Parts: sequence; structure tokens; C-alpha cells
Amino acid sequence: MWNSIVEFVNIYWSVLKPVIEITILWFVFFRIMIFFEGTRAGQVWKGIFILVIAFFLAQKLGLNTLDWILTKLFAISVIAIIVIFQPELRFGLARLGQPHLFGTGLKEEEVDDLIRQLSSSLFYLSQRRIGGIVAIEREDRLKGYINSGILIQARITPELIETIFTPPSPLHDGGVIIQGNTLVAASCLFPLAQNPYLSHALGTRHRAALGISEETDAVVLVVSEETGLVSLAVGGRLTQGLTREEFSQALRDQLVQTKKHAVS
Ligand code: ATP
Ligand code: MG
Repeated sequence: MWNSIVEFVNIYWSVLKPVIEITILWFVFFRIMIFFEGTRAGQVWKGIFILVIAFFLAQKLGLNTLDWILTKLFAISVIAIIVIFQPELRFGLARLGQPHLFGTGLKEEEVDDLIRQLSSSLFYLSQRRIGGIVAIEREDRLKGYINSGILIQARITPELIETIFTPPSPLHDGGVIIQGNTLVAASCLFPLAQNPYLSHALGTRHRAALGISEETDAVVLVVSEETGLVSLAVGGRLTQGLTREEFSQALRDQLVQTKKHAVS
């Protein structure tokens, strides 16, 4: 009896094992691709993919010299990759270690309230051509960026955001960070986007919005001082020139979707 149970488990395990392995590998690969998508690492992945294909072809076709060169090249490239991608690896590992709390932690009515406050203040800034940048924390903790600024810990009101960004307020330079419905810090320094293919028309404010959205899952809002355009950056993508309605809808999609995602 015992033997047949062991045999049964063994058979199932031998079938399950490759399935589990493939699922884990697929998940890891998928996460890596998502993480690097749109960044300079995305371009390098394509190069590595071509090298791997060349390596296998050289082996299969018995091209010994090429095979030898590629083998040596791979050994060196491991070290090169660690050096080149040191910032990405550091942020990637930091993200892995971060506790994943659920979204903004707000109820749906509170999200709507937050959107009203942000829409009112950011479009006020836009009309007056005052620049601003606001990052809303979701699952990834923004503690490191909060520490780079001035701690505020106040309930959000349009007046507070407008006051912070209106020069010559000592806090107007740098970004504001929001956790739930609290404005936690101002004058924070965000990382600049690394992508070399970004339009030169984008200055440091917009690059900072893209940068923090590449490295965390934060939703980032930007008001341009030069054009008054209101934009939103998520996952390394910038949507510029939103109308008030588009702004509210896009923000709601991001914040409520996260909540549903977190609940499911
Ligand atoms: P705008 O359209 O408003 O001019 P821009 O994308 O052209 O924006 P800049 O003109 O370079 O950007 O904006 C400079 C301002 O952006 C700075 O005064 C500062 O407030 C903000 N800023 C610059 N770098 C960062 C950063 N790393 N993190 C947060 N804010 C930043
Ligand atoms: Mg500018």
C-alpha cells in the first residue's frame, strides 16, 4: 500500500516537476522583460539574444573558432553586464525585497476625493504656468525618495499643493510624494530616466517623472512650467497633454485598477 502511494506520488512529481520549473522560469523571464521594457537594458537584451543564437548555430555547425570566441565572450560579458547594469540590478533587487502592500490603501470614495484634489491643484498650476511633479505611491515603497526631500505628513488639500509648487516657496524645486491621502514629503529628488532615445524636448522634470515610474510602480503627475501641459507617467511611459477629464479618468484607471487587482 505504502509503496504504491510512493510510486503514485513519484509519477505525479515527475510530470509536475517540469511544469513547475517551466512556470517559474517563465515568470522570472516575464518579470525581467517587464522590468527592462523601454529602458536601455531592453536594447541590450536584443543584442544578447542575437549572441545566444549565434553561439548555438556555431556549435551546431561545428564552427570551432567562432564557438571558441563566443564562449570567451560570454565569460567576459557576465562581468560586463554586472558593471553596465549595476544601477538597474540594484533597483531590481531593492524592489524584490520590498514588502508589497495593497495599492494606495484607499477606499474607492477616497480615491475619487484624491483625484478631485489633484485635478483642482494641478490644473490651477497649469493655468498659471507653474511647474510641478507629484508621485503617488502604490505597492512599491518610495521611502528612499521621501528621505531625499522634506518631510511634511499633511492631509492633502489643493491649497497645500499649490503653495508648495508656487515659487519662491523653499519647497517648489523637486517632487511631492503622496501615500494614501497624505502628502508625505516635498522637494524630493527622483531618479532621471536612463533611456537615451528620449526626446530632447523633455527636460529634467519630465525625465524625473519617467525615471521614478521606470523604477517603481508609482503613478507620476507632471505639470510643465513651459507649456502648462499636464502629463501622467506610469511604468516608464509618459502621456502628455491630458485634458481635465482625461486626467481624472487615467488616474482613476491606475488607482482603482490597482485596488481591484490587489483584492483579487
Ligand atoms: P518644464 O516643462 O516644466 O520646463 P522640463 O521637463 O523641461 O519641465 P526642467 O525645465 O529641466 O524640466 O525642470 C526643472 C525642474 O524640474 C527643477 O526646477 C525641479 O523642480 C524639477 N526637477 C529636476 N530634476 C528633478 C528630479 N531629479 N527630481 C524631481 N524634480 C526634479
Ligand atoms: Mg524646461
